[in-house]
Amino acid sequence: MRLVLFGPPGAGKGTQAKKMESFYSATQISTGDLLRQAQADGTELGVRAAEFMREGKLVPDEVVVGLIEEKTAKLGSNRGYLLDGFPRTIAQLESLQEMLERNGQTLDGVISIEVPEELLMERLCGRWSCKGCNSVMHERDFDKSNKRVCISCGSENIYQREDDKPKAIQQRLKTFEDQTAPVKAKYGELGLLAKVDGVGSPDEVFNRIKETLK
Ligand code: AMP
Repeated sequence: MRLVLFGPPGAGKGTQAKKMESFYSATQISTGDLLRQAQADGTELGVRAAEFMREGKLVPDEVVVGLIEEKTAKLGSNRGYLLDGFPRTIAQLESLQEMLERNGQTLDGVISIEVPEELLMERLCGRWSCKGCNSVMHERDFDKSNKRVCISCGSENIYQREDDKPKAIQQRLKTFEDQTAPVKAKYGELGLLAKVDGVGSPDEVFNRIKETLK
């Protein structure tokens, strides 16, 4: 299975991709995670991407397209994948089409996770991540009477992403409207788009995705 998980920041693409990985035996490829890893490793690419990411702007197309080509080639042609956060521009969509054609492959579909903007803000402002196990959580899930720790593994090594601050969030939502929304329209024209209501618990949304993909 080769799918695109589409949606604005905070829609739950990463959460759903993680749930889908084992169910569909496919690998999550998150360009955001790959870029953050490159930054943590201090690579030239990571340094180049850092400023764009901090400001909530898109990293240049050729950088992310290169990452996707590298990652999918490593997976091999038999392994399915779930693209999380890619493509985000029409140029990226076209590069993906070209890459698939070169490999004699097609995209099975695009799941658009739909969430109203007020809820996106609330989700992103309260989002925490764990350095230990990579879980993503919301501050409402913390035990109020105790020190904040990861709700999955108990690690104290949890943090808020630098681009989950209100100013950067606003820019990311604007970037989504300006540069990424046309990708949804294009996939709609190509007959590949399926919309899924993204409001509710992660399990509720996952059940809707499974129904849609049946
Ligand atoms: P995410 O983790 O998907 O929210 O991505 C975090 C940031 O990484 C974005 O705000 C962009 O700066 C950058 N990024 C991730 N994916 C892409 C992409 N496909 N194209 C350009 N920039 C990206």
